[in-house]
Amino acid sequence: MNIADVKKRNRNQVYRLVYEHKRLSKTEIASALRISVPTVSQCVNELKGDGLVADDGFFQSSGGRKAAVISPCPQFRLALGVEIRKEYVHMVAIDLYGEILKEQDFPIPFSNSDYYCAQLCNLIQGLIIDLHVRPEELEGIGFAIQGLTDPATQTVFFGRILDADGFSVENLQKYLAFPCHLQHDTEAAAQYAIWKGALSQDLLYLVLNPYVGGSVAISGELHSGPCLASGLIEHMVLVPGGRQCYCGKRGCVDAYCSSNQLLDSPNGEIGTFFERLRRGDTDAAARWQTYLGYLAQAIHNYHMVLNTEVVLGGLVAKYMNQDDVALLTERVAENSGIQGKVPPITVSKHYDAAAGAALYFIRTFLRRFET
Ligand SMILES: [Zn+2]
Repeated sequence: MNIADVKKRNRNQVYRLVYEHKRLSKTEIASALRISVPTVSQCVNELKGDGLVADDGFFQSSGGRKAAVISPCPQFRLALGVEIRKEYVHMVAIDLYGEILKEQDFPIPFSNSDYYCAQLCNLIQGLIIDLHVRPEELEGIGFAIQGLTDPATQTVFFGRILDADGFSVENLQKYLAFPCHLQHDTEAAAQYAIWKGALSQDLLYLVLNPYVGGSVAISGELHSGPCLASGLIEHMVLVPGGRQCYCGKRGCVDAYCSSNQLLDSPNGEIGTFFERLRRGDTDAAARWQTYLGYLAQAIHNYHMVLNTEVVLGGLVAKYMNQDDVALLTERVAENSGIQGKVPPITVSKHYDAAAGAALYFIRTFLRRFET
């Protein structure tokens, strides 16, 4: 390793440490990295010069000179995220910590057309102008779509919900001067939930929306097989020959655990359902018990292959309380003929596929400091 490599390594390590701890003195950095204070000063000065870190006041001192606080600049780089839904798009801007700086919904219905892409990219340009962000500050724009997407080509290969087969990142990239990335919305949402919560490193993230979605993470990273992403629990058959699923098969988890299964009419709202449930409405209670039964069976089946934590996200999870989780855990344990213990089932309130899509660029940015 030559001198330039050593300098680069020190600088990257100093940035990573400050990013992680948020408030550090030069002495603390020197002691944590086992390098000298003058070396730390040199790295900090370079990082300050680039705008990555800044002075942020002084630590309290019981005597002697107060140490300066070195803090990261969270908005040194930003990323945009766009969740493409049937009737609207949800857009967010996030900082280097994944914090949402701005979010906005636009009611533009999806169509797999050039007209739609041009319209969407116009709205994105508008958001960029509103943010007053300089071009070099925007790392990229992540898109999340309801459809299985090939990570290599970033093209939807199974997009029956939106009729989006063949929709590709290139359709959008040609209208935008920033790097773009397209991924399956469940994977993006899983990534954001993992980022925001102190979750296990191995888990199934299970989205309970009008369409069910699942994504498996192993050692903190989403797992992808050679043909499909892992964790597509929505198309696991729960009831052979049962209800029709949009995928073409019968009896899939989606047909039993979609949030729509809790509604008594097509125009019903999930919030109203939970209000009725909490008031003790017997019809809502019966519907909830049936729903939990199917959900417990689906989780049990998953546990037989991968025995990990299950994190619930999306609309239904938003309204679930600790008693609901305890009841679901009990129902999962009842399904186990082997032993009564099951891995934790938890609820994440951080469902945001747009923010998850934007995270792709934040994580890519941070990886540059790993060497
Ligand atoms: Zn299916």
